[in-house]
Amino acid sequence: MAEHNFDVVILGGGSGGYAAALRSAQLGLSVALIERDKLGGTCLHRGCIPTKALLHSAEVADVTRDAAAYGVQATLQGIDMPAVNKYRDGIVDKLFKGLTGLVSSKAITLVAGDGRMVAPKTISVNGDNYTGKHVVLATGSFSKTLPGLEIGGRVITSEHALQLDFVPSKVIVLGGGVIGVEFASIWKSFGTDVTIIEGLPTLVPNEDASVSKAMERAFRKRGINFKTGVRFQGVQQSATGVVATLENGEQFDGELMLVAVGRGPNTAGLGYEENGIQMDRGYVLTNERLQTSVEGVYAAGDIVPGLQLAHRGFQQGIFIAEEIAGLRPAPIDELGIPKVTYSEPEIASVGLSESKAAETYGQDNISVYEYNLGGNGKSQILGTAGFVKLIRKNNGPIIGIHMIGSRVGEQIGEAQLIVNWEAFPEEVASLVHAHPTQNEALGEAHLALAGKPLHAHA
Ligand SMILES: Cc1cc2nc3c(=O)[nH]c(=O)nc-3n(C[C@H](O)[C@H](O)[C@H](O)COP(=O)(O)OP(=O)(O)OC[C@H]3O[C@@H](n4cnc5c(N)ncnc54)[C@H](O)[C@@H]3O)c2cc1C
Repeated sequence: MAEHNFDVVILGGGSGGYAAALRSAQLGLSVALIERDKLGGTCLHRGCIPTKALLHSAEVADVTRDAAAYGVQATLQGIDMPAVNKYRDGIVDKLFKGLTGLVSSKAITLVAGDGRMVAPKTISVNGDNYTGKHVVLATGSFSKTLPGLEIGGRVITSEHALQLDFVPSKVIVLGGGVIGVEFASIWKSFGTDVTIIEGLPTLVPNEDASVSKAMERAFRKRGINFKTGVRFQGVQQSATGVVATLENGEQFDGELMLVAVGRGPNTAGLGYEENGIQMDRGYVLTNERLQTSVEGVYAAGDIVPGLQLAHRGFQQGIFIAEEIAGLRPAPIDELGIPKVTYSEPEIASVGLSESKAAETYGQDNISVYEYNLGGNGKSQILGTAGFVKLIRKNNGPIIGIHMIGSRVGEQIGEAQLIVNWEAFPEEVASLVHAHPTQNEALGEAHLALAGKPLHAHA
């Protein structure tokens, strides 16, 4: 058994872990990065990137189907799923090569294998011990299921869904959150008959209520079926399909059922608790400086309670490295983390929803403005409906921005600067937004909220 010593030992090479490794190396710390599968983790191989590639193919299919509306003669003959997957895998492979090259160009020791915490500062891999002055836990998450609902056969998770080499004819999607609507959107564009089952009263229930409503409207228009507010009871599989039953007795059939009911922390059996790490239902608890209950042991990414997003993991990884290097970075404001739901249409939001803002400051102390994309030239050119919704503290800054419409995810950059820099609508209104862009809708919304609407009726 060999003993290895480093400044920083990182368990898990996904978004949180590799960001911590890269930043630590930049800061001159010696780093061991332990990964049992592929560098890049869920986001690169089974999450963000492959799904967005599929969504792009889906957009191409939609545009081709509607080509005549734009005066272009084209016919959608079908979806060649192996070819779609080849395109997707090409993107993932290229990014994987780039990331591998980046990590190997730095003073980072990449250790391949399954790691387990055997002492508070020591991770054992293949019988060797890696001891760090500091340890970062970043072991990520897995697709959850419901009690009694077994994954297998025609009941699949997002990991399996990404492996399909055919377009299913009819699918039930259990869960109307980010991952559920993403796959529902992809499949519908590819020609699948889709039904989403969501136990909460609306689709995308974590979004501002008016956005959830608009999403339902858009999905209804696209012919995506959904049933909300009724809980799922069980599913039966046969040789040809599945039948899902809800608690109210309603039944839905399909060729497959995707279970998209959230992701759980991957922490079981890794020795965390035995070594004094305080946990809650499998999540690793940290303070705002991402320090666990064991001094010198930090945690990043999906195992830390909060938004399970890659960019949160990146930022946490960077934060931890800087904290270890003694730079005393400012804590990450979870509320300022931008969120995008990728589907057709897209949802992008940052800050407080209207109901949260009203709860925090009182309804009388906030102002809300919704700018309809009907007034935005570029959105009309793209043929999308939707809006930009702003929430401000009266006589104060913007505290929430919520957008829905095709491609609005691309507008989240300015939105997050506005909220995180606590900009006043009057300040944003004085900045010039290029015409005709969808970004202009953000500018117009601020003009209106500042009392000087341009292309708006109110
Ligand atoms: C379908 C889907 C779509 C998504 N789309 C988006 C999106 O568009 N945008 C976004 O921001 N987020 C998205 N996410 C979420 C995003 O993928 C995660 O938030 C992110 O990957 C979390 O990073 P992480 O470092 O915590 O964990 P992971 O990326 O899961 O990395 C953890 C790594 O640790 C390794 N590991 C675990 N245990 C051990 C061990 N014992 N020894 C060695 N290695 C170990 C794993 O192999 C893995 O590589 C999506 C997720 C899914 C499933």
